[in-house]
Amino acid sequence: MRTVPATKAKCEAHLAHYPRPLWLEYHHVIPVAWQLYLWQQVRDKRTVCLCRTGHGNVHWWIVRTMRGLYDAGGGIVAASKNTGGRGIDLVTARIALERVEAVEPGSLDRLVSARHWGGMAGS
Ligand SMILES: [Zn+2]
Ligand SMILES: [Zn+2]
Repeated sequence: MRTVPATKAKCEAHLAHYPRPLWLEYHHVIPVAWQLYLWQQVRDKRTVCLCRTGHGNVHWWIVRTMRGLYDAGGGIVAASKNTGGRGIDLVTARIALERVEAVEPGSLDRLVSARHWGGMAGS
């Protein structure tokens, strides 16, 4: 993934960090792995610049929202609420699901069937 020294960019999610990050990471709002699976290319290049912890948190919430999609019975918003989380990292995760489904309804079903939960390594 693309990174940038923290002297040249800011984490778009959080005002304060301790310890301070020395570099930041560009998170594709629609994860690259999803795009490659669904479309065989990166069609949506929109990214947000995040600290590593925030980036990991976003993927953590993507996975938990995806896994709750069919438990909640009420779609993306209900699944997001049912994670029990809150805050900007969870919102960024929810937007991943909303955007991919907006491009092509049924995409989330395909991702779930293929067990493409949207996680980062270790999350
Ligand atoms: Zn990411
Ligand atoms: Zn941050």
